[in-house]
Amino acid sequence: MTTTSKPRILTGDTPTGKLHLGHYVGSVENRLALQDAFDCFFIIANKHAFTTRAERPDEIRQSVLDIATDYLACGIDPNKSSMFIQSEVPAIDELTFFFAMLLPFNRVMRNPTLKDEIRDKGLGENYPFGFPLYAVGQTADILAFRPVYVPVGEDQLPHLEMTREVARRFDQLYCGVDPHTEDKNYVNAGGLFPIIEPKLGRVHRLVGLGAPGPDGNLLKMSKSLNNAIFLSDDADAVKAKVMGMYTDPKRIRVTDPGTVENNPLWIFHETFNPDKQWVADNEEAYRQGKVGDVTCKKKLIEILNAILDPIRTRRKHFEVRPHDVVDALRIGTQRANAVAEQTLALAKKALRQDYFPRTLQM
Ligand code: ATP
Ligand code: MG
Repeated sequence: MTTTSKPRILTGDTPTGKLHLGHYVGSVENRLALQDAFDCFFIIANKHAFTTRAERPDEIRQSVLDIATDYLACGIDPNKSSMFIQSEVPAIDELTFFFAMLLPFNRVMRNPTLKDEIRDKGLGENYPFGFPLYAVGQTADILAFRPVYVPVGEDQLPHLEMTREVARRFDQLYCGVDPHTEDKNYVNAGGLFPIIEPKLGRVHRLVGLGAPGPDGNLLKMSKSLNNAIFLSDDADAVKAKVMGMYTDPKRIRVTDPGTVENNPLWIFHETFNPDKQWVADNEEAYRQGKVGDVTCKKKLIEILNAILDPIRTRRKHFEVRPHDVVDALRIGTQRANAVAEQTLALAKKALRQDYFPRTLQM
């Protein structure tokens, strides 16, 4: 097994579907840019998928393989980066239990991302106990790797703040770090866990294709909300989705003045269209009722397909080699266990619960 002294990065995805354009600009672009300079770990958080679909294990299993294929199709190189399956790294669960003691229950329930998910996914009052627990588990997903950065989209910031709180509390309680220590100095001051830094992508929160939610705000593009363009969509699917996307509902005729603000059509052009002049000119024309939705949608379809074409080509390669995908997961999971077991051993030592060494049989 290869070991490296490069600083580590941890990020990942829940296997509740396939990767979409929001993941691409929110996180995957950053991962590709960082995979040479850092030792990158990409977690496929399959246990967290059970929070909302415990009755559909086959779907979760398929999604693990789909997301791993998506990673490879995007250009994640398994010789450089480790993609791994959460449920095959037991040290994460063991850390979760200890970390759950460091977070007040009310603190977890106040996490705004959990509240948004309960609302947007229509979970009502009947979500399982494991739903809030996933947020605690995510602190362990991250800290098991003691990473310097965590590349994520904006919705993850509350989870990362909780992770920072757990790390401070652990280091203060069990490693003797003075509470007045600056966050960046915790490890130098004897702490086991760094106070991790989020790394936001080029776009912090890409909106979905649909109409605004009940509060008037556009919803984020999400695997679970049926409002996404997937990296695995073919050219026809992209065409159909863009043609059907929400734009300015007040605009009936091409000559009606259109609204650019809060209009997914223009948010997508601003995000993906490399020709900034075209975007500026046509936004102005749209405002004045001089260009139609269809013209601007056709342009967007062209642009999105140009981005997705190389990903489609690489995907074709891996789709006929499913064993290569599983091999990449196996090797990545071995590397992840090597790091996470080491973290757990150090954590148990700090917790004075290190009675005898153990080795994991893989
Ligand atoms: P789910 O609907 O199941 O929650 P998701 O689409 O939110 O799925 P996650 O697996 O929860 O995807 O998120 C994986 C990573 O991608 C996180 O870092 C998250 O912040 C980022 N991300 C997800 N959706 C977007 C988006 N629309 N814009 C930017 N980043 C995003
Ligand atoms: Mg999510």
